[in-house]
Amino acid sequence: MQNDSRKTCEVCVIGSGPGGAITAALLAEAGMAVILLEEGPFLSQETCAPFSVQEMTMKYRNGGITPAFGKPKVTYVEGCCVGGGSEINSGLYHRTPPAVLESWQKEFALKEASVQAMEPYFARCEAELSVSTMPYSAPAPSLKLHQGATALGWKSMEIPRWYKYEIDSSQASGYLPVRQSMTRTFIPRFLAAGGTIIADTKAHRLLRGSNATWEVNALQKKSQEPINISAEHVFICAGAIQTPLLLLRSHLGSNVGRSLQLHPTIKITAEFPEVINTKDLGVPVHQVKEFSPRLSFGCSISSPPYLALGLLESERAEYAAVASQRMANYYAMITSSARGRISSLPGYDDPLVRYNLQENDFRVFKEGFTKLSQILFESGAVRLFPAVQGVAPVSSPDELPRLLASVVPSKTNVMTIHLFSACPMGEDKSKCALNSFGQLHDLKNLYVNDSSMLCSAPGVNPQGSVMAFARRNVLHFLESRRKA
Ligand SMILES: Cc1cc2nc3c(=O)[nH]c(=O)nc-3n(C[C@H](O)[C@H](O)[C@H](O)COP(=O)(O)OP(=O)(O)OC[C@H]3O[C@@H](n4cnc5c(N)ncnc54)[C@H](O)[C@@H]3O)c2cc1C
Repeated sequence: MQNDSRKTCEVCVIGSGPGGAITAALLAEAGMAVILLEEGPFLSQETCAPFSVQEMTMKYRNGGITPAFGKPKVTYVEGCCVGGGSEINSGLYHRTPPAVLESWQKEFALKEASVQAMEPYFARCEAELSVSTMPYSAPAPSLKLHQGATALGWKSMEIPRWYKYEIDSSQASGYLPVRQSMTRTFIPRFLAAGGTIIADTKAHRLLRGSNATWEVNALQKKSQEPINISAEHVFICAGAIQTPLLLLRSHLGSNVGRSLQLHPTIKITAEFPEVINTKDLGVPVHQVKEFSPRLSFGCSISSPPYLALGLLESERAEYAAVASQRMANYYAMITSSARGRISSLPGYDDPLVRYNLQENDFRVFKEGFTKLSQILFESGAVRLFPAVQGVAPVSSPDELPRLLASVVPSKTNVMTIHLFSACPMGEDKSKCALNSFGQLHDLKNLYVNDSSMLCSAPGVNPQGSVMAFARRNVLHFLESRRKA
């Protein structure tokens, strides 16, 4: 009989986001005995309304706001539940752009990552997640962005998403959109293949066990009881911040946590003269890619709590309650070459995350504020509330110089929902933590298979890249075992 606090398996996967869920499912389906350890709770999508305050409390780490220290600080958002970020995100799907794959091969000596080599992994993920465009008209705030950009002659498009659209006559559109998050896709597949999930349990340290096994020391969050898992192989998939933290805390690996990248993002809340934002708004789907990868624009979640957050810097958060039906949030996202650092602080659970934007990034932010304002005024916006401290709303393009004068590090609210690259893959051991297929250099049977492994910022929404590389690496692992 096995003691409850001691478990044994062939593979322990730590973290059940898009990287961990696909890893665990494919391994279990290949017949391996897999334990999937997840710090957050196991909740169905129906537990709370999407994009609600309740969702932030139940499924986000720290309620959704954690700072990376720098000038300015960058607030970042992480999911913390079974399914990770896939349970709370917008589902916007991109493949890794060809130029990015090329740079990863050249700069990091990443093997087998050409467009042709990656094609089957992207194609399979797209089929399994039902990646598709909407069968009905996009939400009004999304169309506003598209119309404004198109009128200016800038490339704007609907981005496909991992959603299924079930026919439902009770919906205004005639369809019920269902997000194909991990709890809808790879988690049920994992369970059906005989896998075991241990939720509400956090891995704290990894140690070398006897007979070349790995020991995962974990703590159940509610009871504070320890669980120790002995595994032949460990895949760490705890996300771009927590994966390097676990490795640093365990004193494992090199080039870990020193090369964090993210997509720094600034926001504008726009007010229109007419109603554009209704209760069943759903997820905006257009992005302006004319200036990508340097600069991209999109419309963000615009439910009342998100509108209130968007108006905080202009000290008019309460205005969201009055005008929310005429308002929506928009963003400008940049690709920065800055690299941040994650450190483990003795005695503390949370890491110290440092990220300093580069001087040029603020020039790109100013361009972002200018171009996004142009798009929004072109599409009929009457007032813009930029997320810059103390700046009064902007009511016409003539007022843009006043806004731009205030876009300085001490006043600009910078955030991100896209984090990666703190344990990059590749054969160049001077900068990579992992080999080309995710194994830690010189550490047998220990892998990273989540957003940390991406070599640099992809310049597009990252989950498609995370899942395609995770699939590729698991299949490579299984093939290597078969050959051995
Ligand atoms: C609000 C929001 C919107 C987004 N929108 C999009 C989008 O539209 N399109 C897109 O492509 N991407 C989007 N993203 C990004 C996308 O969700 C992430 O890139 C993706 O989830 C990363 O997957 P991952 O497996 O690396 O990590 P995560 O999804 O972060 O999963 C890691 C999991 O590991 C768990 N964990 C962490 N530490 C431990 C530990 N010590 N022990 C046990 N478990 C642990 C966490 O609780 C979490 O569940 C969005 C992200 C957010 C936050």
